[in-house]
Amino acid sequence: MLHCKFNEDDSICSTIDYEENPDKYRGLIYCIDCGEKAWFTKGYETQKISRMACFGAKHKEGCNASTVEFVSDDPDNDEDEKNQNSGIRVDLDKVTSQSIYVSNDNNKHGDEESDWKGKSKRKIIGNSDGFPLSKSLRQLLTNLCRNSDYGDENQTITIVANSGRVVVEGDLRSNLVRIEDVSREHIGKDYIFWGKINNLNIDKKGTLWLNYGDNLLEPSIALNSKLKEQVLVNFKLKEVSELDGSDVIIVGHVGFSPQGKAIISTGFTKYMSFRRVTVK
Ligand SMILES: [Zn+2]
Repeated sequence: MLHCKFNEDDSICSTIDYEENPDKYRGLIYCIDCGEKAWFTKGYETQKISRMACFGAKHKEGCNASTVEFVSDDPDNDEDEKNQNSGIRVDLDKVTSQSIYVSNDNNKHGDEESDWKGKSKRKIIGNSDGFPLSKSLRQLLTNLCRNSDYGDENQTITIVANSGRVVVEGDLRSNLVRIEDVSREHIGKDYIFWGKINNLNIDKKGTLWLNYGDNLLEPSIALNSKLKEQVLVNFKLKEVSELDGSDVIIVGHVGFSPQGKAIISTGFTKYMSFRRVTVK
């Protein structure tokens, strides 16, 4: 869509308005038709395609404002869907940048699938029927996005760090927190946070803020400049704006600013993964 609603004064924001004044509009734009949060996607030019700038949103069903279709870069491997009732074990030590799936513009696929097969053969504990199963965060995120009830069926999860320290353990559902639902209840323990990045910005210190909405009030993920650089390299991004509109999953902890804004942080890029969307 090419126009959206600016929440502050209900005015209409065009793609030109947004590009000229991103700080004004960031996190405060909504679909005119269905009222869902929107994000901005820059226009781009390649040898083959010339694409206009536009707004995206996860529109409510039946909303007519969607003019372009956004598709997610899900891998084709649906093996994990068959194992919905099984326990999940994520070995963060084994999650390398190569094992995290990111699509390229040319629609080539990453090598998660082969890595996944290799990992399944390793003998690991944490599964009720004794059949080893490991799963990357990326695959967990795909399942959550496809089925928000995922995790309701007595699944358990164990996440182990480099040192062997157990970061998250227990039933999957009670360890999952949607970014929009994060509260002071979640202070003091690591959780698996997941949700949509509707906009992002970089502050004067070089910290990258991945925002759910209004960057003064609503929850954000904060990545210091070092982590930000690692995200660019490990997820093969040319610039951070490629993450606008993505789904994110992150194993980390939450704190609150003096203004009461939830800030989620983590120590390593391997504790997070993205499900990027591209214009079809
Ligand atoms: Zn809509």
